[in-house]
Parts: sequence; C-alpha cells; structure tokens
Amino acid sequence: MELFGQPVSPGVVIGEVMRYIPFRPRLTEEPLSTADVPSALARYDQAKTKAREELDALENKMANDPEKAKIIAAHQDILQDPVMDEEIRSLISGQLVSPDAAIAQIYDTYAAVLRQSQNARMQERASDLQDVRLRLLRCLAGVPERNLSALPKPVIVVADDLYPSDTASLDRAHVLGIVTQVGGATSHTAIIARSYEIPAVLGVAGAMEHLSDGQTVILDAVEGKVLTEPSDEEIVAFRAKGEKVSAYLREDKAYLDAEPVTRDGVRMKVYLNIGAVNDAELAGAAHVDGCGLFRTEFLYLNSDHLPGEEEQYQAYRKVLQAFGSKPVTLRTMDVGGDKQLPGLELPEENNPFLGVRGLRLSLARMDLFRTQVRAALRASVHGNLKIMMPMVGALDDLLQAKAVIAEEGAALDRAGIPWNYDIQIGIMVEVPSIALIADMVVQEVDFISVGTNDLTQYLCAADRMNPAVRPYYQAYHPAVFRVLGNLARTFAAAGKPVSVCGELAGDPLAIPVLAGLGIHKLSMNLSSVAGAKRLIRRLNLVEAKALAQEVQNLKTAEEIKARLTAFAERTREGSSSIYV
Ligand code: PEP
Ligand code: MG
Repeated sequence: MELFGQPVSPGVVIGEVMRYIPFRPRLTEEPLSTADVPSALARYDQAKTKAREELDALENKMANDPEKAKIIAAHQDILQDPVMDEEIRSLISGQLVSPDAAIAQIYDTYAAVLRQSQNARMQERASDLQDVRLRLLRCLAGVPERNLSALPKPVIVVADDLYPSDTASLDRAHVLGIVTQVGGATSHTAIIARSYEIPAVLGVAGAMEHLSDGQTVILDAVEGKVLTEPSDEEIVAFRAKGEKVSAYLREDKAYLDAEPVTRDGVRMKVYLNIGAVNDAELAGAAHVDGCGLFRTEFLYLNSDHLPGEEEQYQAYRKVLQAFGSKPVTLRTMDVGGDKQLPGLELPEENNPFLGVRGLRLSLARMDLFRTQVRAALRASVHGNLKIMMPMVGALDDLLQAKAVIAEEGAALDRAGIPWNYDIQIGIMVEVPSIALIADMVVQEVDFISVGTNDLTQYLCAADRMNPAVRPYYQAYHPAVFRVLGNLARTFAAAGKPVSVCGELAGDPLAIPVLAGLGIHKLSMNLSSVAGAKRLIRRLNLVEAKALAQEVQNLKTAEEIKARLTAFAERTREGSSSIYV
C-alpha cells in the first residue's frame, strides 16, 4: 500500500513503525451513583500508587542529575499532599464527582492560587502541579507512560500530530523518520524535523489506521509517500535513492562557511532560527551573521514547569554568549495556536490560530510576560540583543508591550541591575492588518521580520496545520510577494531593516525573489544555511529584481511556482546567464 502526504524534510529511510499516541485527558462530566463511591475511591488510590511507582522509577534514573531529581522529589511531595488528597476524596464521596474530574478540579484550584503569587518559585510550582495532575489522570485511565525522549531502537514515528513538547525532547538518535496525519510544511513539527535533519512526511491521511507497530515501511520524504510491505527490489532501489539524496544534501554542506555574496557583489545576511538552547543548535552560530529568530517558547515547551526569571536569564545569556557580538533576535513567547504549554492550562478555543496567541497571550498573562522581559533585559549585557514580538495585529498591543519593556527597564534601574539601553525593538509581521499599515508601524519599531508561515495562513485564510486546506495555503501566492514588496519599500524608505524568518527565507525557490524585492536578511534553520549561501553566490541581483517584479504580476501560485522552478533549474544546470 502507498500513503501520500507532504514531504517537509528531505530524505529516504527504511525502518519499523512506532505509533505514538500521547495521553490527552478527557474528563467525565456525569456524577457517580452512591453505590459507585467505594470503587471510585479504590481507583483513585490505585492511580496514586501507580503514579508514585512511576516517580520512584524516574527518581532512580535521575540519580546523577540532581536538578531533575529535585523536581521529581517535588512531584512526589505534591502527589502525597494530605490536604489535596483529602479534598479529592471528599469531592468523590461527598459530592459524587468522578475521580478524574475530582483530581482535575482540586489540582486546578491550587494551581490557579499559586499562579496568582508574585513569587516566581510559587508560579513554577503551579506547573509542577499540572504535571502531577496529568500523570495521575493518565494512571487513572490505565494508560502507560509514552514519550519520544528515550526510544529503545531506531523507528519511524507515526502520530496523528506531534506537539512541540513531543518533538523538542525527541530522541534524535533513534527517530529515523516522522509521519503525521496533520500538519504541513510550516507546522512546528516540520520546522523541528528539518532542523534535526529527520526525514518527514506530514498530512498523511489514515496513517494511524493503516500503519501498525513494528511494520517495516519505506518513508520517501522527497516524493511524500509511505510504502508498506516493500519488496526486496523496492528496498534496494529506495536505499540507493536515500544515498543519492543524502549525497546531494552533503554537497550543499561545503558552502556552510561561504560568504553569501551575490555575483554582483552584494553581501546578503544569513541568520539562524533557533528553537532550543542546546549545544547542537548553538553550534550553528559560527556559520551565520546572527540569530534572526530565537523561538523562546521552546524553553517553556521543553520543560515540565514554567521557567522562572533566573532560568530564562541563564538560557538567554547562554544564547547571547554563543553568538558573541552578532545580533540575537529574541522573540517573546509565541504560545497558543498549535503550541500549547504542558505547564499552562489554556481555555479551549474554536479557532486557536485566531485566538489568544503570541503577544495577545503575553498581554493577557502579564505575569509571564514581565518575567520574560526582565530575564531578557538582564541578559542583554551579555551580547547584542534585539527583542521582537509575535502575532501583533494592532499598534495598541505593540505600544502596550513597549511600555511594559520600558517599565521593567526602569525597575531594573531602580534595583541597580545593569541592562543594555540600546536594545532594538521590533515585531514579526504575520497578521495582514499590521502589514497593511506598514507606514505607521515603521514609526514605532526599529525593525521588522516577516513571519511568512503565519502571514500566508492569514492572508490565504487557510489553517497551516490542516491538510484539507493545503491547496489553499499558497506559499507562492502573488499576495504574499506583493505584501513583502510593500513592506520592503516602506522600510527601505525609512532606512529600517526588514528580514524574513518564515520558512520562505530558506526556500531555494523563493530566495531569488526575496533578494530581488530588496530583502537581504534571511533567517532560516541551520539545515537550509549552506544551500541558501550556495544559491546566493550564484545570484545576480539585477536579474533577481526582474524576477521579483515578474512574480508580483503573475496570476496564480502555480504559475509563480513554475516560473521559480525554471529559474532554479537553470541554477543547477549552471547554463544560464544569471548563474555561474
Ligand atoms: C512565522 O510565522 O513565519 C514564524 C517564523 O513563526 P512561527 O513559525 O514560529 O509561527
Ligand atoms: Mg509565526
């Protein structure tokens, strides 16, 4: 059988399937009958015992990681807390609330109280409570613990969807490939897969139904297909194809440290998008001009608790130091949409991408925003920091955020804590309403970076995660290029910089157009850097400008793609006048 989807991270691999079904609790609304109370209490006790055993095992495993062991010990204390235990029991026996709903209610009540606290340690404790709550609910449901952080053998992970918290802790050595039922080229799973160089095909309808654990499949993340029951001939053929693709990707790598200068001598800037504070990501700093997008939410998503000010400060300092004098553009947390925090219970929304996400959430949760801003300002003395806000739809939100940054700066001054007064403040342009008032935005910011992943979904009114509307999510829609052209012109006139940090910035088909529009700062995943530099070195800006003009006047995304593909093919053949 062949299943099809969208290839989002290239490669061809052969391996065994592991279906991944993370636990998401569903709470019982119906009350218990009086007769059910004893068995409900017994189920609650069993769940508690099971949760304690799991934590014991984890504590043993963490014996040589005292920081993590401390967190597990704190989780044990929460689990054994006599007051919460008593309240859960009395909800079950006195008010006939089912055990799952009783656990959720009591844990949520205490977590909400802790969240109100001014004390950062107490706020962190709230996410520990959420963690224990989830463990307890899972044990109650009889679901074994599953995560992707320690896999026993190499597998192709198949899932309905992966949360950023799943992918962020991925066991990179053992994940050969990724297949999901939802998601597309700009979903976070895709971005992580590309940055980890794990072949991935997303939006594969029916993958969970048709694929089973242990089954050998071929994952072709060039064509975008999954082949089940491969014959010996197919295995040989696809193995050869996999080697060819890897060789091509390796060839690109020779350009990792090349100067991105066009043939007519314009030095473009290639920046890095980073999403985690680990050595593998930070090693990329050596090959680029700076960090154009530091997705700080991964710090929250990677963690089983909400990181406090000190923890964030340490992380930001580490990133700034890794980049030395090169700029680091810290994006304030972009949570909501397809990114939910394990430690933060957010209300369900019918349209999360149109809901409380990005800066909207930061302004609604001022405690989290102020903590993050303080940590960033304190870290600013360690490098060249810029701050950027995501999902800005209106100037009043931007002005409010700027006021908070100024207030926190003043508070640091009063406390005698040093910070860098020259921090540039900018926004991501992702929402059409803000793109259309670029002439007013330019007066309020030092720079913008265009998040084409979101800009495209909002311009085209097509959910970037939903495979059913994939044909409508048109990365090469003429409107996208027209908006980019308008932003570039407006900001060039004011002498302020524009960059692109969406996936378009690393896309070899789109780079010539972006360069031609006058966008000479591109921020991308490390896996795209070498290929982008190779391409830039073959580019002639006069020709690129003509191309940019042309595509803004082509009628459909399909026509534009065909034009860009022809342009790219000439690059590869090296036979055009544009390329060497
Ligand atoms: C974007 O929207 O283009 C972007 C870079 O932000 P994210 O992908 O994190 O939403
Ligand atoms: Mg975005």
